[in-house]
Amino acid sequence: MTKTFADQVRDTEARHVLQTYKRAPIVLVRGQGARVWDTEGKDYLDFTSGVGVASLGHANAGLTKVLAEQASTLVHTSNLFFHPYQAELSEKLARLSGLDRTFFCNSGTEAMEACLKFARRYWYTKGHRERTRFVALTRAFHGRTFGSLSVTADPHYREPFEPLVPGVTFVDPTDASALDAAVTDQTAAIVVEPIQGEGGVRPLPAAFVASIRAAVARTGTLVIADEVQSGLGRTGCAFHSTTLGLDPDLISIGKALGGGIPIGAALIRESIGQAVAPGDHGSTYGGNLLACRAGLYFVDQLLEGDLLAHVAAVGAHFERRLQAIAASHPMVSEVRGAGVIRGLEIDRPASDVVEAARPLGLLVNATAKTVVRLLPPLTITADEIDEAMERLDRAFTAVEGGVQ
Ligand code: PLP
Repeated sequence: MTKTFADQVRDTEARHVLQTYKRAPIVLVRGQGARVWDTEGKDYLDFTSGVGVASLGHANAGLTKVLAEQASTLVHTSNLFFHPYQAELSEKLARLSGLDRTFFCNSGTEAMEACLKFARRYWYTKGHRERTRFVALTRAFHGRTFGSLSVTADPHYREPFEPLVPGVTFVDPTDASALDAAVTDQTAAIVVEPIQGEGGVRPLPAAFVASIRAAVARTGTLVIADEVQSGLGRTGCAFHSTTLGLDPDLISIGKALGGGIPIGAALIRESIGQAVAPGDHGSTYGGNLLACRAGLYFVDQLLEGDLLAHVAAVGAHFERRLQAIAASHPMVSEVRGAGVIRGLEIDRPASDVVEAARPLGLLVNATAKTVVRLLPPLTITADEIDEAMERLDRAFTAVEGGVQ
């Protein structure tokens, strides 16, 4: 039997690509807005958006035009020289976040790594060499380099690579008194995701936010908000930490910023920026022209377009539709999240629903084993949400063993 192109791709990958991912079997070749197509011509509503990356949908016309123009002009010069766009993007990110300084890198993990280093550097420069410790949260996910992995909780990710960076204490985000005990005058920073995405779409509880603020007031520790997944409009506001009443000193961003072009950034309070010296950190690619043009195009939609208002409006519609699904499928115990980052807690492996949804033309993914996570593009429409929810409803019915 002749192999399809998709078979050939899967076979060659199995032989030559390092097997660090468990991929769904489809091979995607094209996208438009919230839809993607596989090699067989089948289309799917993409409620993963490349794990929160395709913020403006696939093949966005405006972004494509900017990228094509920049690609045919100048893509990369390194950080040996100035180019016009780091300045422009950092100024706009400062307007968005209230944090005056940006360090550009290429991914969320790198943004976290930078935040951890700058937090340590701040205390070192101030002469507090004992302030090296971090307090992070159980269920946290911050990336897979040694630093970001050290503040990531899941033993499954950590254990094969230990020993990691020492001095990290994990605290359960429902246990405010544990935070109080963990944060001392040796703590460099408390590290939090405003919504724990990989940990099962869990917003930080308000009581815990209050305890973070109290710990900051008591010890002067810094706060790092990892907004790689929750930030840049996904919840209908620029940064979800602000909505929660947190006032972070450093914010890591990535994913949505480039709309698919790799770019990450650490946003830093001026006082911390003043503690950092040339050579302390760097990246060959960080903030190249193409990545910055992508970032600028996206940030302009947040600052000048109606993207935030759009997410707030469709997010409310999304929530209503998900609550209706939860009401008609007893396996769903909770709907969590905000805007267009949502999780459905179910009573069995979420992969069952993911597998059932795919043939019905809906891409979602499983996180924290029992949570179906939905991360559509920020540009998703109410009609597309309705279409996706019909498919999701049928997927739940299929998993329950009923008629689709
Ligand atoms: N931080 C958070 C909250 C994330 O969700 C992720 C990725 O899922 C990361 C960091 C790592 O980002 P990246 O995979 O772009 O390195």
